[in-house]
Formats: sequence, C-alpha cells, structure tokens
Amino acid sequence: MKNRLREIPKVDKITNSNYFDGCNKKLITKITKKQIENLRQKLIGGEIDKIDNDRLLHEIKKEYDEIFKPSLKPLINATGVILHTNMGRSLISEELFKKALPLISSYSNLEYNLKDGCRGERYEHVSSHFKNLLGVEDVLVVNNNASAVFLILNTFAKNKEVIVSRGELVEIGGSFRIPEVMSQSGAILREVGATNKTKPSDYENNINENTKILMKVHQSNFTIEGFSESVPYKKIKELSIQNGLLDYYDLGSGYIPVLPYNLGQKEPSLTEILKTNPSLISFSGDKLFGSVQAGIIAGKKELISKLKKNQLLRMLRVDKLTLSLLEETIKYYLKEEFEKIPTLDMLFTSIEELKKRALYIQDLIGKKYCKVIQSETIMGGGTLPNRKFPTIALWLEGKADILEREFRKNLIIGRIENDKFLLDFRSIQKKDEPLLIKTLQKVFS
Ligand SMILES: *Cc1c(COP(=O)(O)O)cnc(C)c1O
Repeated sequence: MKNRLREIPKVDKITNSNYFDGCNKKLITKITKKQIENLRQKLIGGEIDKIDNDRLLHEIKKEYDEIFKPSLKPLINATGVILHTNMGRSLISEELFKKALPLISSYSNLEYNLKDGCRGERYEHVSSHFKNLLGVEDVLVVNNNASAVFLILNTFAKNKEVIVSRGELVEIGGSFRIPEVMSQSGAILREVGATNKTKPSDYENNINENTKILMKVHQSNFTIEGFSESVPYKKIKELSIQNGLLDYYDLGSGYIPVLPYNLGQKEPSLTEILKTNPSLISFSGDKLFGSVQAGIIAGKKELISKLKKNQLLRMLRVDKLTLSLLEETIKYYLKEEFEKIPTLDMLFTSIEELKKRALYIQDLIGKKYCKVIQSETIMGGGTLPNRKFPTIALWLEGKADILEREFRKNLIIGRIENDKFLLDFRSIQKKDEPLLIKTLQKVFS
C-alpha cells in the first residue's frame, strides 16, 4: 500500500497544469486538495490501485465549471398559467428594468431629502404615486404580502384578539397559513362562523374587551360553492366603527383595470374595495398588480405612521431596486399603459392574436406534428380561484410524458392535459418564440 500512496500527485503539480489556464487558482487548489484526499482514501481502502492523472485533471475542471453554471435560468413558461409562483410570478419588462437601472448603479436620494439637504424617507418615493393611483391617505411597502400581514397584526394586535371567519383561514402555497402567521405575530386568533357560512352576528357575538381587529382574508386559491355565505367588507367596516375596532382586509392580490372574460365578476378591483373606505388593506406587488415582489399596505395615515414606528419594519424593508421598479410600474398605471405590464398584457391578449401566433408556428413545423387547439387556463399565483378563461395551445403529436421531459430539458415547461402535451400561448413571451421554434424543429427532426 505504501507504494501505491507514493503515486499520489503533489497538489501544485496538478494546479500548475496549463489545463487550468484562466481559472481561479485558489478555487482550483481547494478542489484539487479535496479530490486528492478522496483518492487517497480510495487507495487506502483498496477501491482503486492507481491514480489516472488525466482523469483527475478532468474531474477537477468539471467541479470548477459546475460552480459557475447559473443556478437560476430563464425558462419558457408554456403552461398557460401567467402567475406561476414556481416560475417567478410576475415578469418585469426589459423597458421597465432599463428605467430603474440608473437608480441601482448610482447613488440616489433613497433616504435623502434633496430640497432641505437632510435625511429623507425611502417610502415617500412610491407612496405619493400610490396615493395618486389609489386615492388613499398613505401607503407603505414591505418585502411581500406575508410581511404586510405580519407587520399589521404585530403592530396593532399583539396579545389582542383578531376576529376572522373560519371560511377564510387560508393556506397559500409555500406554507403561508393565516392561523400560524397570526400566532407568530403575537395576535390571538378568534375564529368565528362555520367553514361555509359566516354571518355579521358571528362577528358581533365574539367581540369582547380584548378584541382589536376585524379582519377579512381573501380566499385566494379556493372557492366555497353551494350553501355558503360570507360577510361583505362593507358590513365588517360598519361593525368595526360601531365597536371602535380596526378593520383590515388582506386582499392577497389587487388589480386596477376591468378584467377580461368576466374574471372580475366575483373579484372586486382595488378601486371598488377602496370605495368601502377600509382602515387598512394589503396585497402583493407581484400577483395581479404585475410588478416586483413586495407587500403593499394602504390606508389611514395615522395607522401607517404607527406601522412605520414598529422596529420590525427595519427587517421587512425593501431595497432601492424594489422601490424603483415599483415606482415605474405605478407610472404605467397612472398613464393607463396596461399593455406595458407583462402580466396584464398576457391576460388581455385576444384569442385571435394567440391563434395567429400558434398558427404561424404550426405552419413552420407542420400539421403532422402539431395542431392548434382552443383550451382553458387559470391565472395562478393564488389569484382568481377556479376562474377559467380561454387560451390557445399547440398540441404536440407523441407521448405526453416523453415530450414533457424533452421540452423541460430544453428549459421549456409545457402542460399535460388529457394525456396530451400542450404548449399554451397565454404565457409564452413573443420574444421567446424563435427559441421555441428551434426546439420544436430539433425535437421533430
Ligand atoms: C398570496 C397571499 C399572501 C402572501 O403574499 P406574498 O406576497 O406571497 O407574501 C397573503 N395573503 C393572501 C390572502 C394571499 O393571497
């Protein structure tokens, strides 16, 4: 064995090889030491009896290259689900990102008051635009809507009771659960009503001297059909005024323009909800609003300033990148340039337009391999639960699971429906079509 161990190459002899020209020496040395130690153990254990130097060089380079492969990769979302949480929810357009770029590559007045030359406030940059857009007294932005819920409950209801309907104790994907968030925040959950029915009297009968908030939570990803009843926000607001309580609506998602395909029928817009004059609402920046990940809290000025005094805000605060992307999105809203917000643009694209794009690709690939079909999709991301709307897809000839894997390998995620593999155009970006065509040609060649 001693003889065999003598064969182990010296570390610098390996790392000095011109095979590693252009690589970072420190990192190569670290990997080399680790791999040599592995080989030494294998020699001792008798698993191998000699070292193949060429192979060692190759293995070290492979491990080195692996480190620099990006882990986050752009995908083509051909599932048809526009707000796919697993694929990053809302998209930000290149045009919008370019507008925000100077702000993150230079110093800025993030917290600097240019007029008076003193310290300013980071939230003001978006709150004035939001006040314009929503007509609310004040706005605060935090990391995401989960943080918004947490901050509000912690600020106003620590050791106090918050009344929520049993039909609204939702779990959002990724283990966000209202009861759990509530207990973490220090608030005490007082659940009222039944799963399918909650009446105003359920709230009234449970108000006591320790009650602080009447809260409504949007049933983001499910619906209760049949024998069911819930209390409209207007009524909750009335009860909170009568009893000197705070009212808060966790909307989950908020939208502005009238939605197509009657999707807004059971889903009031932000404007409609704000007509009931809620004390506080919160919603995600990257659901239907179509911007960056953020939690937007809007409502009474005096309440927002209390939230700003909570030390927790420091932990939930947003970066300049978030604020600048959000500011530019709000400006699109103010100009009603909805088509510049990718989430809305995809949702509003007409069936005719989608069909034209799908037919063009079908012509290129050949009818023998794919057919254009009309189908249905959902919005996703915990918004518009169970609301289907029309879409156009390419149905590919062949075994669905094999095609799914093949396209996934090429970073294209499709959808399997009734044993058919579909590429749904509702969520495919126009700019990605050349790559999609190339992959289709490769697969069917
Ligand atoms: C999505 C959602 C949340 C969580 O929002 P994030 O922005 O994902 O943190 C909270 N409440 C409701 C009702 C939601 O739909």
